Amino acid sequence: MRRLVVLGAGESGVGTAILGKKEGFEVFVSDFGMIKQRYKEVLEHHEIEWEEGSHSEEKILNANLVMKSPGIPDSAPLVVKLIEVGIPVVSEIEFAFGYTEALLIGITGSNGKTTTATLTYEVLKQGGLDVVLGGNIGRSFAGMVAEDSHENYVLELSSFQLDGIVNYRNHIAVLLNIVPDHLDRYDYDFGRYIEAKFRILMNQTEEDYFIYDNDDKVMEKWLSEHKIRSQKIPFSVSKTLEKGAYIEDEKLILKLNNKIEIMPIATLGLQGQHNIKNAMAASTVAALLKIRKDTIRESLANFQGVEHRLEKVLKINNVMYINDSKATNVNATFYALDSMESTTVWIVGGVDKGNDYAELLPLVNEKVKAIICLGVDNEKIISQFGSCVDILVETDSMKGAVEIAYKLASKGDTVLLSPACASFDLFTNYEDRGRQFKEAVRNL
Ligand code: ADP
Repeated sequence: MRRLVVLGAGESGVGTAILGKKEGFEVFVSDFGMIKQRYKEVLEHHEIEWEEGSHSEEKILNANLVMKSPGIPDSAPLVVKLIEVGIPVVSEIEFAFGYTEALLIGITGSNGKTTTATLTYEVLKQGGLDVVLGGNIGRSFAGMVAEDSHENYVLELSSFQLDGIVNYRNHIAVLLNIVPDHLDRYDYDFGRYIEAKFRILMNQTEEDYFIYDNDDKVMEKWLSEHKIRSQKIPFSVSKTLEKGAYIEDEKLILKLNNKIEIMPIATLGLQGQHNIKNAMAASTVAALLKIRKDTIRESLANFQGVEHRLEKVLKINNVMYINDSKATNVNATFYALDSMESTTVWIVGGVDKGNDYAELLPLVNEKVKAIICLGVDNEKIISQFGSCVDILVETDSMKGAVEIAYKLASKGDTVLLSPACASFDLFTNYEDRGRQFKEAVRNL
């Protein structure tokens, strides 16, 4: 019997273990940390052997195949050892790929993956396709493949998941943008992170499609230096294209075989330049899969977004409170500030992943009247923006931040939580940060 060892027992590890068991592997799951109770129960239910708190090498180095969860870096000593002794180490999406014939739509990028994957899924579902959504969001690909068979999968893919692929191939690949992120996992080498993102088209053929942002300079350079096999379909918010999605007379246009007018930009459910791009990507996928224009239009108009992404929380005294806790890097916050239509009180800060705030300066000068720093170490934010705004306050609690914002905001202003940083100094994760924000707003 072939032995599959799964490292890490989170969503993707448990999904892989279940699929492996179903496919006849002898499965062993090992997690260096503690496994969540609900995952332990699932493993027990499937009679899968597991351990937590350490890795027992004698039970791991006899594997035929190892699946490494995306959170474990290649530099982890056990992973180094596995590779040294020649045991193949793959990612969950690589493993699951071997057990489905479905049509796969893979969506990656530094920002916008969840929004675009969710939007794409909604349009395809409305169009009547048998489709499920998962990957880096919600349920794991392997878990979904194990449970049931579906004709189409919309997969949100992180660079870590793409790192571990060998044969994985998606019929439609979407690459939304590339800005520096997660560089700690790539030896602070942006080039390596770029290569990881482009692995999404590594196994594509002439029959496959590659949808990408034509305005993205990093991608433009990479594409000019590499030949790709799949059919390129770009989108752009700044120019008219021969083929692809673009804006004309304030309308979203899609030109594949013929030119179709999808809808006026103003009627999109989600506003902001970045969401126009996300909508372009989603409608291109939908059109390739022959979804009718009316269905695309209706789905894009009705889409209300995903929690913690420019999420409108409440309007109090004519001040709108917006939760963009998922903005964990500068680029995401750039688009948040860019989409603000009124004077803004901005709550920012947290764990900085090597941020360069310079690109935000013009937007802050134009729109922000007060900055509330919410982090343990706010030095960099203070030195960058201290001279741009009249008011800059520091706090280390969400409740405090929201109460200060309430005092500073006047009628017609917006209070925006868009931290540009990770959340681990004061919160469990970005969801916790977003929920605390919403609770504090509701308690005002
Ligand atoms: P991801 O799954 O890639 O982290 P999300 O959809 O969760 O992306 O959005 C993360 C953050 O990025 C949010 O603050 C959101 O408003 C912002 N964002 C969404 N789409 C884009 C885009 N196309 N470009 C830049 N920022 C975006």
